[in-house]
Amino acid sequence: MNFKVPKGTQDILPGQSEKWQYVERVIRDLCDKYRYNEIRTPMFESTELFQRGVGDTTDIVQKEMYTFMDKGNRSLTLRPEGTASAVRAYVEHKMFGQVDQPVKLYYTGPMFRYERQQAGRYRQFVQFGVEAIGSADPAIDAEVMALAMDVYTTLGLKDLKLVINSLGDKDTRDAHRSALIAHFTPIVGELCSDCQSRLEKNPLRILDCKVDSKHPAMATAPALTNYLTEGSAEYFTKVKQYLDVLGISYEVDPNLVRGLDYYNHTAFEIMITGDGFGSITTLCGGGRYNGLVEDIGGPESPGIGFALSIERLLLALEAKNIELPTENELDMYVVAMGEEAKLKAVELVSTFRAKGISADMDYLDRKMKAQMKAADRAQAKFVIVLGETELEEQVVNVKAMKTGDQTKLEFGQLVHYVLENK
Ligand code: ATP
Ligand code: MG
Repeated sequence: MNFKVPKGTQDILPGQSEKWQYVERVIRDLCDKYRYNEIRTPMFESTELFQRGVGDTTDIVQKEMYTFMDKGNRSLTLRPEGTASAVRAYVEHKMFGQVDQPVKLYYTGPMFRYERQQAGRYRQFVQFGVEAIGSADPAIDAEVMALAMDVYTTLGLKDLKLVINSLGDKDTRDAHRSALIAHFTPIVGELCSDCQSRLEKNPLRILDCKVDSKHPAMATAPALTNYLTEGSAEYFTKVKQYLDVLGISYEVDPNLVRGLDYYNHTAFEIMITGDGFGSITTLCGGGRYNGLVEDIGGPESPGIGFALSIERLLLALEAKNIELPTENELDMYVVAMGEEAKLKAVELVSTFRAKGISADMDYLDRKMKAQMKAADRAQAKFVIVLGETELEEQVVNVKAMKTGDQTKLEFGQLVHYVLENK
């Protein structure tokens, strides 16, 4: 037998998991500052939720979902993204009735997509995302983008570009749709089979096609921006004004359409510039989804959100040689020589831990030298060596590993000393 981790998934081992924890802490702290509260939803939902919430014509629904029948003959799908679930929960728990609006939520957790494996693209990956539901104020669009940017800049990433666009409202989309159909119909035979079926169902999707992105008709396609209704254009102007006030620079890309069917008005991506990793440059994507709550059975409640994967975030940090300050120091290592000493070591280690001191000891009956080496590898700040003499005299030398200084203490003084000096 030779078992391997499933394709497109990864084990995160000690050494790497500290980085994950660090990033997750930064994310939680930021969400706290921006007043977004955590929501945890199931990792699978009814398949229909995603068909409706993500959209039938998206790559996600058409190609990437892990869908299965359970023993009760229900079609379930491992969640490919977080917005549909958050909105389902918002409707199911009538959060639209809460006094405080908008409802500001965040989530982190694994998402599943059956995709071709490559750098930065996994079949199980962890997304952090936020959703602000219940407000159509352009200021909240800017806040959501600011929070996404803040995650990267707090972690020390600099080479970032915020790209924004407006997808407009329904009238905008209808007018643009007709223009797109007129534009692509004459050359539809030259496009991929996906785009051929997109032409009637959702021609906007053609602009987001990865296969046909170099086709000359892409560059000359009618830009959404030219079809913005007055209200949409005004909304977009305000979003940009708020970004200016926040001191966040951005670039408008009229061809940015994003992967999900339900976006309108603001759409944005955060890209990594300069040397990225592999062919992937997008770290984060988001947008406004007025109408989605109604589609999922709730009252009219406009919303906006984004999602980013921790995998791509970590790859970006690595590509830019940014080290996270993940120290894993140990406060105290107890070296024990002999049976009696080991009994005392077990007792002391337990006492240290109870008092908030991280402590460890040897469990392989190694020689003194090997135990000292283990203490070094563990980056122990203090080491004590217990032997016959120490047990007899109830006194031990505490060695500060950085300086080599030794202090003679009674057992009862150890906790206080370490707490004072660690
Ligand atoms: P892409 O164009 O790269 O396929 P997408 O439009 O499918 O991205 P979204 O659904 O908007 O991406 O997801 C938001 C973010 O989640 C992405 O910007 C990326 O950081 C991350 N992401 C998406 N798919 C994957 C994946 N398979 N592996 C790792 N991260 C992913
Ligand atoms: Mg994708």
